[in-house]
Amino acid sequence: MPLRIGIVGGGIGGLTLAVALSNLDVEGNLEVDIYESAPELTQVGAGITIWPRTWKILEKFGLTEELLTHLAPGQHIPDGVPRLAFQFRKADQEPGVPIRDLILTTSPLSFHRASVQQVLLKHLSPSIRCHLSSHLVSYSAADPNLHANAQSAPIRIEFANGSTATCDLLVGADGIKSGIRKQVVASGSGVSADERPSAALRMNGIADPVWSGTIAYRCTVNSAVLARKMPGHRTLTTLVVYCGKNQHIVAYPILQGSVVNFTAYVADPAKEGTKWNGPTFEDVPREEVISHFDSWEEEVRLLVHNALNPSRWAIHAIRPLESFISASANVLLLGDAAHAMTPHQGNGAGQAVEDAYILAHLLAKSAASSRPVAVADIMKVYDAVRRPAANTVHDASRTHGLLYHFNAPGMSDGSGGYLAAMDGEEGWPPERLGRLGETIVSDWKYAWETTAEEDRERALSMLG
Ligand SMILES: Cc1cc2nc3c(=O)[nH]c(=O)nc-3n(C[C@H](O)[C@H](O)[C@H](O)COP(=O)(O)OP(=O)(O)OC[C@H]3O[C@@H](n4cnc5c(N)ncnc54)[C@H](O)[C@@H]3O)c2cc1C
Repeated sequence: MPLRIGIVGGGIGGLTLAVALSNLDVEGNLEVDIYESAPELTQVGAGITIWPRTWKILEKFGLTEELLTHLAPGQHIPDGVPRLAFQFRKADQEPGVPIRDLILTTSPLSFHRASVQQVLLKHLSPSIRCHLSSHLVSYSAADPNLHANAQSAPIRIEFANGSTATCDLLVGADGIKSGIRKQVVASGSGVSADERPSAALRMNGIADPVWSGTIAYRCTVNSAVLARKMPGHRTLTTLVVYCGKNQHIVAYPILQGSVVNFTAYVADPAKEGTKWNGPTFEDVPREEVISHFDSWEEEVRLLVHNALNPSRWAIHAIRPLESFISASANVLLLGDAAHAMTPHQGNGAGQAVEDAYILAHLLAKSAASSRPVAVADIMKVYDAVRRPAANTVHDASRTHGLLYHFNAPGMSDGSGGYLAAMDGEEGWPPERLGRLGETIVSDWKYAWETTAEEDRERALSMLG
C-alpha cells in the first residue's frame, strides 16, 4: 500500500514538498494530498529573494527555466561570471556612503511571490490532490491498539468544515501561526518520555510567535516613474540594502523589471519579545512610510515618496524549537511552522525549500526500498539534519537585523565594542564600515558558497 502523506498548507514550503515528491516518487509509492485553508492558492506579500543554495535545489526539480522568464533585465542567470550581486549602503545621511559591494559569480535572484507559486503549481504531478477551503482544526493518532505500535498508527485530520481525512504522515506546513506546531510542542517532543508531562507545561507558549520589535512596510514603486526621476537609480537593476540606525530598507526589481519591490524595516530593539498590539497586517498611507525615512539619502526618499500600496506588517518569529517532530505521532513541521524567523537574511522560504528537499529524498528512498523504513525513523533523520541547520539560519537572521541597524553586539575591535566606536565621536571611517560589511557577508556566505548536497547525502546515509 502506498504511504499516504498529508501536507497541510499550500505555501512555498508545502508546494515545494509536493513538487519534490512529484519528481522523486517515480514508482508511485507515495500518495500525496495537500490541504489548504484558503479557497484559492495565492501568495500575499510582494517580492522574494532566492539564494544560489536554494536555486540549485529548484534547478533539480526543473523549475528554474520558467522562473528565469520572470527576471528583471539587470538580473543575471547564475552563469559563473562575476557580477555585482548586491550593495549595502549607510543611507541615513545625505549623501549616503557605501558599506560593501558584493561581487558574486552566482547572484541571488528576486521574484514576485506569485511568479514562484505559479511555477510550483505547474510542476505538481496530476496525481497530487489539492483540497482547498480545508482548514485543519486538529489531528489525532488513530487508536494505537489497532496497530503494531503507536509510531505506525495513521493520523486522523479534522477540518473546520466538518470533514476528516487520514494519512500515515502529517506534514505541518501551515506557516508561522501553525496550529500543528502547538500540538507537536504539546506532545513534549525533544525530551524523554519521563520528562514529557512537565516539559509540556514548560513549553506552554513556546509554540506561539513573538513580536520581533520590528515593523516592516512592504511597498512597490513603478520602475518607469523611478527611472524618470532618477535615471540609473540603483534599485532598477540591483538588490540594495540601505542601512541606518534602527532602520533599513531592502529593495530590488521584480516582474521583469517593471516594478521595484522594497521593504522598509523600523525596529525598537527594547520591544523584542513583547506583544504587538494591533493587526499583524494593515494597509497604511504612504505618509507613514515617508515619516521614518524623510531624512535619508535622496535615492531612499525617492523610493518612499513614490511607494505604491504600502502595507505595514508586524514581524513575528518563533523561538527556536527543540524538535520539528511529534513525540507521539507521525507528524512533523516544515517551513515557517518549524522555524519562522525574521526576514533579515531573506532565507525563510529558502529554508522551507531545504526542508522539503531533504524530507522528499528520505521519503522517496524509503518508499523505493523493498524494506521501507518506519515513518518515525524517517522523521528522526529529518529532525536531526534540518533542525540545527534551520535554527542556525534563524539566529543569523536576527543578528543580521542588528547589524543593519548598527546594534549588533560582539563586533568588538578590542576597544570596547564596535557599536560604541561607531556611535562615538570617531564617526564612520571607511575601515569601520568595511568591517561591518565583512561581518554581514561572512555569516551569509553559506547561501551562495555551499549547496544542500552534503546535508542530503548525510540524511540518506543516516537512513541506512
Ligand atoms: C517581509 C518578509 C520578507 C521576506 N523575504 C524573504 C525572502 O526574500 N526570501 C526568503 O526565502 N524568505 C523570505 N521571507 C520568509 C518567507 O516569506 C517565509 O519563510 C515563507 O513564505 C514560508 O513559507 P511556508 O510555506 O512555510 O508558510 P506560508 O507561506 O505562510 O504558507 C502556509 C500556508 O498554510 C495555510 N494554512 C495555515 N493554517 C492552515 C490550516 N490550519 N489548515 C490548512 N491550511 C493552513 C496558509 O493559508 C498558507 O497557505 C520573508 C518574510 C517576510 C515577512
